[in-house]
Amino acid sequence: MAIKRSSDSPDPDRAYKTNRSKQSSYEVTLLSPQANTQETENNEAKIRPQKLADYIGQKKLKGILNMAIAAAKDRADPLDHLLLYGPPGLGKTTMSLILAAEMGVDCKITSAPALERPRDITGLLVSLKPGDIIFIDEIHRLNRMTEELLYPAMEDFRLDVTIGKGQTAKTRSIPLPPFTLVGATTKAGALSSPLRDRFGIIQRLRFYELDELTLIVKRTAEILQASITEAGAIEIARRSRGTPRIANRLLRRVRDYVQVEKVATITEELAAIAMNLFDVDAQGLDWTDRLVLNTIIKQFNGGPVGLEAIAAATGEDGKTIEEVYEPYLLQNGYLSRTHRGRTVTAKTYRHLGYQPQESEPQQTELL
Ligand code: ADP
Repeated sequence: MAIKRSSDSPDPDRAYKTNRSKQSSYEVTLLSPQANTQETENNEAKIRPQKLADYIGQKKLKGILNMAIAAAKDRADPLDHLLLYGPPGLGKTTMSLILAAEMGVDCKITSAPALERPRDITGLLVSLKPGDIIFIDEIHRLNRMTEELLYPAMEDFRLDVTIGKGQTAKTRSIPLPPFTLVGATTKAGALSSPLRDRFGIIQRLRFYELDELTLIVKRTAEILQASITEAGAIEIARRSRGTPRIANRLLRRVRDYVQVEKVATITEELAAIAMNLFDVDAQGLDWTDRLVLNTIIKQFNGGPVGLEAIAAATGEDGKTIEEVYEPYLLQNGYLSRTHRGRTVTAKTYRHLGYQPQESEPQQTELL
């Protein structure tokens, strides 16, 4: 079976613009890894890497996918279904679009909340051409009916639809062209096992290292025609919480700053001044991060303290603290989670200018 891009091949990001309701209930701040509407609609397409070779970092993932692409092309088959998991902003959508480009097929982008009714997923499946890729973001949030329609579709490229109601209801099978499902999730553990088992490749995306983020900042600066020094790029990378989306967002804000200041090049010093102005400190913590950590230290003696108590004391929403702020603080050792609640660490005391406490919590829950 030949896999070709159709002649009316749409802009791969078009589906992204129209189909993905990615906005979460909480506010997207400068340092939150979720996309905001303006980014998804206007800017991301321009700076997304288009080829595997331009996709920086995630070496292991790239190696595995390179091999899968070569094998699938050799057999003239579509790629295996692929599950990508990891925090937002690390490049799951980008990788899906790259896979489609490398395979010469289209990629339809959607998310679980946009697939509420059975006809949402059936409509998508019947519109596929051989080899096409469907990208479903937040796939752990699919409802049961949609999930059950996906099982035979993924396994046998078959859509089972029920026509009529009650006793006269009949099930009809509609053959589908072979396709690849790329699922993305922040919570691999929340996926049902029948769905997880239908993915041939399951891969985790990791936070990026400083040198990788520096390359990403330099690459984006070149695309945006912003002049930046190596040290300037490192300064932005350092404050980007291991996340390309945040690195690109910070770069844009810093670029605005130097433009208003009528300076030609982003230097280390200017980048630092601009980001301090936006309240992003040298380690990539913002005002709310510091508020949460300071509150635990001052009001709860460093912890352990429950999420609800932190939310009440800071006036922030508990879910926002848990989903937006905590992952980075946990990952980078500013917070630890014990069975009795959240505790700050010696690193937190040092970073915020306090004298570290004598003892540190012993039991840390693995995440
Ligand atoms: P996710 O789907 O995981 O939320 P995206 O794929 O939308 O993340 O990536 C967010 C932004 O970060 C994209 O606009 C892209 O330009 C950039 N990006 C992500 N991963 C990489 C990478 N490996 N190399 C370069 N840029 C990247």
